[in-house]
Amino acid sequence: MAENKIPYKIYLEEQEMPTKWYNLRADMKNKPAPLLNPGTHEPMTAEELNGVFCEELVKQELNNDDRFFEIPTEIQDFYRMYRPSPLVRAYCLEKKLGTPAHIYYKFEGNNTSGSHKLNSSIAQAYYAKKQGLKGVTTETGAGQWGTALSMACSYFDLDCKVYMVKVSYEQKPFRREVMRTYGATVTPSPSMETEVGRKILAEHPDTTGSLGCAISEAVEVAVTNEGYRYVLGSVLSQVLLHQSVIGLETKTALEKYGIKPDIIIGCAGGGSNLGGLIAPFMGEKLRGEADYRIIAVEPASCPSFTRGVYAYDFCDTGKVCPLAKMYTLGCDFIPSPNHAGGLRYHGMSSILSQLYDDGMMEAVSRKQTEVFEAAEMFARVEGILPAPESSHAIRVAIDEALKCKETGEAKNIVFGLTGTGYFDMVAYEQYHNGTMTDYIPTDEDLAFYRKQLPQF
Ligand SMILES: *Cc1c(COP(=O)(O)O)cnc(C)c1O
Repeated sequence: MAENKIPYKIYLEEQEMPTKWYNLRADMKNKPAPLLNPGTHEPMTAEELNGVFCEELVKQELNNDDRFFEIPTEIQDFYRMYRPSPLVRAYCLEKKLGTPAHIYYKFEGNNTSGSHKLNSSIAQAYYAKKQGLKGVTTETGAGQWGTALSMACSYFDLDCKVYMVKVSYEQKPFRREVMRTYGATVTPSPSMETEVGRKILAEHPDTTGSLGCAISEAVEVAVTNEGYRYVLGSVLSQVLLHQSVIGLETKTALEKYGIKPDIIIGCAGGGSNLGGLIAPFMGEKLRGEADYRIIAVEPASCPSFTRGVYAYDFCDTGKVCPLAKMYTLGCDFIPSPNHAGGLRYHGMSSILSQLYDDGMMEAVSRKQTEVFEAAEMFARVEGILPAPESSHAIRVAIDEALKCKETGEAKNIVFGLTGTGYFDMVAYEQYHNGTMTDYIPTDEDLAFYRKQLPQF
């Protein structure tokens, strides 16, 4: 059979790795809306952003025009320690499903952080070091971003202060210890260390925390400490830029075997892995050179694309960050505590939001029990224990492969396997014990948070 020529794992040679990041915005006719100053509602200037973010990253954030950015040699060297990541043909999953579809996944979990986040954290730490900063602050939810940033900071000898959503801090003590192994300080958020943390605790003493709240604390600490800047692991356009290495490698690997994907699927929290995976493919689509179905998968409990609105909103609960135009549930939205699987941010990358609004991609949501069912099936046949976040993409890849079984079509399905799930065993345990529940916010719930969107 001809298809057997395609190996289980398509690896690239080191010299085939990308040397430039691809900036998808250069090919968008409708550019993503600019970040706005929350006080004046005017577009944020580089000068204003430089107070919060590293200068070189601000340039990347504001650049809608240059198609490529050279990847500095130091970052390329770091990438070589754990990249290129394999593109795997899921032969065993195909067999299990009895589908004629060909399923491929790009596996980003092969590094200690356990996810794709290292692709951006190393870039952000590099620019912070180059600027002569002492350290950086950030938030982390499930913990992958905090871990990736800790690793990058220890590599460049930078201080790293992580504000970790309280519920994850308590549920995932081992994540915290991994971060501390790399020298980071980890504080559960909301904390009494910051003004915004104290305010949120006074209003909601029992809160389990949220990403939006941890962001506010990390930003406050960055702007009030000399030599510190704030860095973010998703949502921002600079992060999607760095993550384009995922898509560029995927495209090179597929082209080696003449494979053209029909459907590209990724899970969507803030949109960085999906934005990175689809970048070169979406570029072709925008330039009219090729067509692909592109599907974002989000949790039914935090449905920013599928049930949110496209509007300017705050990126954080404390309302100290710039306003971003994005699909959002409202910055006060916090997914129900029974939601286990990450992807809990209230908004979405403004690049992906614009593309979705322009009809260039689709979005679907899945309930967490369906997601864990897919995760378990995948683990049993493909071996890798997937992160719950990644399993949203697995779920929809399986669903699309099963549709192919009905129609007899041998479509090429590519999905992003963003990470491993070793620190998510409490959630897996709930699933196995049958105690995992699904929570889907009601229309009234969503209307309540939507009403609080900034009006102007
Ligand atoms: C952070 C994370 C995600 C979601 O973030 P995006 O910015 O939407 O990519 C998905 N999977 C894993 C494993 C993660 O760590």
